[in-house]
Amino acid sequence: MRLILLGPPGAGKGTQAQRIVEKYGIPQLSTGDMLRAAVQAGTEVGKRAKAVMDAGKLVSDEIVNAIVSERIDQPDCENGFILDGFPRTLVQADATEEMLRAKGLDLSVVIELKVDDAELVRRVAGRYSCAQCGSVYHDTDKRPVQEGVCDKCGSTHFKRRPDDNPETMTARLQVYYKETSPLIGYYHAKGKLRSVDGMADMDHVTQEVEAILSKL
Ligand code: AMP
Repeated sequence: MRLILLGPPGAGKGTQAQRIVEKYGIPQLSTGDMLRAAVQAGTEVGKRAKAVMDAGKLVSDEIVNAIVSERIDQPDCENGFILDGFPRTLVQADATEEMLRAKGLDLSVVIELKVDDAELVRRVAGRYSCAQCGSVYHDTDKRPVQEGVCDKCGSTHFKRRPDDNPETMTARLQVYYKETSPLIGYYHAKGKLRSVDGMADMDHVTQEVEAILSKL
């Protein structure tokens, strides 16, 4: 199963991707996570990407296409993968098609998560994660069972993304509507698009996503 999760920042792509990973055992390929790892590691790509990410803009198609192309060649992607945060431009969408065609693979489905802007801003403003295992929490929606302790790994260190602030979020939303939302029409025209109400609670969204996947 090869699927794309499409939606603006804060729509719940990462959360739903994690649940699909657990249920179907296919990896989540988040270009945002890969780029943050490159920034952290201080690689050449990371150095080029940092300022762009901090400003809420898009890293070049050339860089992200190369990262994804390399990643989907890894053995753990053999039975499928979830693209989370990629493609984000029409150029990336064409590149995805080309990458898959070259490997003799096809795309199973594109799931769009639809969420209102005010809710996206609210979700992103309250978002933080475990510094050790990356589990994602929220100030009001999803607090750890024991305050200050990660449910998954027990770490007491948490962090917030530098781009999860109101100013950068405004820029990221603008970029989403200008550069990424055209992909909705692109995949609709190919008969690959399924849309889910991402305003519903997380478990309900998961049920909707699973209903789509079970029909593949
Ligand atoms: P995300 O974690 O998906 O919200 O991504 C965080 C940031 O990484 C974005 O605001 C972009 O600067 C960059 N980024 C992630 N994925 C892509 C992509 N497919 N194309 C360009 N930039 C990306």
